[in-house]
Formats: sequence, C-alpha cells, structure tokens
Amino acid sequence: MDNTAGHPAETGAPAEPVCGASAPQAADSFRNLGLSAATLAAVDRAGYTTPTPVQAGLIPRAIAGVDVLGQARTGTGKTASFVLPILERMLQPGRAGGPRALVLVPTRELAVQVKDEFEKLAHGSKIHCVAVYGGKPIKGQIDKLAKHPAVVVGTPGRVLDHMSRGTISFSALDMVTLDEADRMLDIGFRPDIEKILRRCPESRQTLLLSATVPPPVQKIAARYMRDPEIMDFSTNELAVETIEQRYFTVDPTRKFDLLVRLLERENPRQVIVFCRTKRGTDKIHEKLSRRRSLQADEVACIHGDLAQSVRDRVMRQFREGSARILVATDVVGRGIDVSSVSHIVNYDIPEFCDDYVHRVGRTGRMGREGIAFTFVSPEEGPQLTRIEMRIERLLKRDEIEGFDAFDRRPKPAPIEHVPTGDFHRAAAPAAEAEAEPAADAPKRPPAATLLGKGRGPKRHRRAL
Ligand code: ADP
Ligand code: MG
Repeated sequence: MDNTAGHPAETGAPAEPVCGASAPQAADSFRNLGLSAATLAAVDRAGYTTPTPVQAGLIPRAIAGVDVLGQARTGTGKTASFVLPILERMLQPGRAGGPRALVLVPTRELAVQVKDEFEKLAHGSKIHCVAVYGGKPIKGQIDKLAKHPAVVVGTPGRVLDHMSRGTISFSALDMVTLDEADRMLDIGFRPDIEKILRRCPESRQTLLLSATVPPPVQKIAARYMRDPEIMDFSTNELAVETIEQRYFTVDPTRKFDLLVRLLERENPRQVIVFCRTKRGTDKIHEKLSRRRSLQADEVACIHGDLAQSVRDRVMRQFREGSARILVATDVVGRGIDVSSVSHIVNYDIPEFCDDYVHRVGRTGRMGREGIAFTFVSPEEGPQLTRIEMRIERLLKRDEIEGFDAFDRRPKPAPIEHVPTGDFHRAAAPAAEAEAEPAADAPKRPPAATLLGKGRGPKRHRRAL
C-alpha cells in the first residue's frame, strides 16, 4: 500500500513559488544586514559571527517590512532569521494593548526553544517573550500574558484558547511569524492558524519559514501574506552533506539486539533513537534502561503521551548532556536543536519521506559531523527506495561484524535476490517487488533510473 498517498509534502514536484523568487544573497557579516548596534551586540554575545545564508537573505528584507516566505532545510538558522527582525521592530515604538509579535510553532518543545532564542538574543533589552502551549496549566500563562510581553510564541491550539478566553489580544500586532509552517499544516493546525490570522490586523507583517513548501503552505501564503517575497535556500540540498547515512537490513525480531550492538560499536556522544509509535518508544526505552552496560539515567524517552513537565525535564537533560540516548517519536523529529547529537538511529523506518529528512537533520547541526542509521526490514525495501528518491542519494549498507541480523528459523516466504545490486531492494520478497510495484510507487521510476543508469552494487554516488 502506498501510505504516502495524500501526504502534502510527498507530492514530489518542487513547489511553485507563490510569486517571484528572490535569489539568496551572501553576506559575510551581520553588520551588513541593517541591524542596530544593540542587536548586533546581542548577536556577538550569542557567539554568531557569520550569518547563515537564510539569515543573510531574510533579515534585510524582513527589516524592510516586506512579507517573506523563507524555505530552507533544518539546521540552517531559520530561528534567528525571524527573531532578529522581530527584535529590531520591537525597538521601534508601537501600539499598546497586547503583544506586538506573535510566533506560531507546531510543538511545545519548539515553542520553548524559540523563546530561548529570543531570550538569548534579547539579552539586556526590555523585550519580554512568553511561550504558551498546551499541556501546561493555563493559569500561569494567563498571569504571564497579563504582564504585557512584547512577543508571544505559541502553538496554534493554545494561542486560540487564550484568544477565546480574552487573555490575549491581537490588536497591537505588528508581526506574525509561522515557523515550521509545513509541519503545522501536516499535523492539522490549518483551521486554528486561519482563525488566528483572520483576527490579526491587516497592516501586520507576516513571515513564514518552512523546510518544504507544498501546496497547503502555498495556499496559506497566498491567502494571508501580502505579496510575499519567496526565498528558497533549499535547492537540491535536502540532507546536509556532512551527514553520513547508512542502513541495516534486519529482521524485526533482531532490531533491538542490533541497536545494542550498534550503540556499543559507535559509542555516540548523543543519539536519538526514533520509533514509530509511543508504545514502541516506551518499550525500547525500558529495555535499554535495563541493560547493565548502560546507566539508567543515560537513557531517556520522549513522546506525546508524557506529561508536559516530564517532556520539559527530558529535553533539559538531553540538552545538558546528562541523558545521552533519547528514544523518541517524531515529536522531536522537527525543529529541535541539540547541537551535540552525533548519531541518529531510525529504529523504525519513518512513514513519510519528509520525516526522514527531519529526523536525520537532528544531527550534523551547523555543519558538524553526524551519522544516521536506518533499520530496514526485508519488507520495507520500497520505503527505503522512496527515501532515497526523495533525498536523491543512496544510503550505504552497513553491517555489524559477527552479528546475524536475520532470524534463521525457517520462514514461510523465502527472500529472493533481485538482481539490481546488494541493496535493500534485493532483500524485498520477490512477490512484492514484482507483483506490486505500481501500487507501491505509482508513476515513479525505480530509484536506479532516477539516480542514473547502470549502477553497480558497490558504487556510492554523490548527492545529485
Ligand atoms: P532551523 O530553524 O533552520 O532548523 P535553528 O534556528 O534551530 O535552525 O539553528 C540551528 C543552530 O544553529 C542553533 O543552535 C543556533 O543557535 C545556531 N545558529 C543559528 N545561526 C547561527 C549563526 N549565524 N552562527 C552560528 N550558529 C548559529
Ligand atoms: Mg526551525
């Protein structure tokens, strides 16, 4: 079955710009971007010396007051690209009666992270920022909102909740930012976002940041932004060059043992182990915590069913480095930035190709080295192929010396070798590989066609 059907980010074709696209500009210093001395001092203090391309492109346009849609992959510094123009605007006089800037983000963790970036960059100024998100008692947030923060960062659901209680007013808003817009729409926030945007003053400036710009994001941009300038920094670079990406073919019953052996072999500085379900995440966490070779507090776990206080604590421990192994669902797959993550393990292959890109993007932050491993069961070959087509790059096959990744008990259906190479596709049962290719990836050429003809088993290609 094609479980990517209907997923907006899986449409394959590059998004059409809503209007003319501007070419990314280069700048080697924050001093050329039109920032005031006070903001430049904050940038210095934060230790940022050179703007990233998305920052160099977005900041001057946002400061000029135009609506901007910035597309760039994760880990490219999108947060500061909207935080700095917001701070700059907050230094100018504005209206009273409510926050002057609103930032909408898809997850609670991201709300906290964006607020932290604000606090880091607003250091020394009087500009206050409050994060509002579900899972925390609303009372505390109401008290904080009553103190008139200039900036509010929140998840759409909770922002809407405050809006209907009358504890937040949008009448003084100068700027609205949609961060990780593709993700917010993916997880069903569109109605909430639209309700919020309809209540914001028409005169506001709108910024939108997204790793991908599928049609639903284009629609929001067309409806709620004023002649947005589109800046696309994503060209052909879905997964960062510095991230090495490998896969293991493994029986589902052998996955846990493989994980243990892999952790032993790699001894990662910090690793995120991604699982598909909350229950699966709990199970792996529990089993890892019981291993004598690991200390229990080295291993942590995060997913959407945990209380917000637990999720906050886990993220803190992971950021501080006391937790070294984080078992997680895709809740942390987007946007979360812990720069010392050296390894990613896709214990379960992600359901959607975009989730793969985002999971893997949790390592290799800001050009650091990173490595990502994906566990692929013999039945999941086609999913891996789809990922490879999406990232236009082949994953290298890996093996652990002396480890048998296959349950050697007799199986009902034999695994046959499809003569395209030693690839995962070879491990897909012949019946599935031959009888149902159309159902699995309609109208798509096989990866070999996409990536070039005549590819041999051992050849590693550069990313196209
Ligand atoms: P994105 O939103 O594109 O995924 P983030 O805004 O989370 O990326 O930034 C990734 C990391 O890079 C963060 O740790 C951030 O502090 C750091 N960072 C951002 N801009 C710069 C810069 N100009 N120089 C150095 N580090 C930066
Ligand atoms: Mg981000």
